[in-house]
Amino acid sequence: MENRASCKDVEDLLQPYLENKLNIEETELLLNHISTCSECGDELEIRYLLMEGLKRLESGETLDLKKELDDRIWHSRQRILFAERLKAVIFLVEGAACFLLLVNLILFLMEH
Ligand SMILES: [Zn+2]
Repeated sequence: MENRASCKDVEDLLQPYLENKLNIEETELLLNHISTCSECGDELEIRYLLMEGLKRLESGETLDLKKELDDRIWHSRQRILFAERLKAVIFLVEGAACFLLLVNLILFLMEH
């Protein structure tokens, strides 16, 4: 997918991303954008720190939120890669199925 999202589009995706509500296309759009736009990347980081920081303050846990956000982004990227590979595999399997069908047809014709 091309990175044509504007900052305004991406801003609307930040909160849903943090709440795990984005689908894979939206996640890809967001991650592609923040890899080239540090303003939106910072915005995501601030929102994450606010959201998680408040929760942790209440429970008194120690914080390494920046790293956790990085992990979260890394996992999102893995999901995107996995989805892309899955598409490629489905394409290959369909190709192989067509090929086998053709081979069977040729064998059938040769036997008769
Ligand atoms: Zn931006």
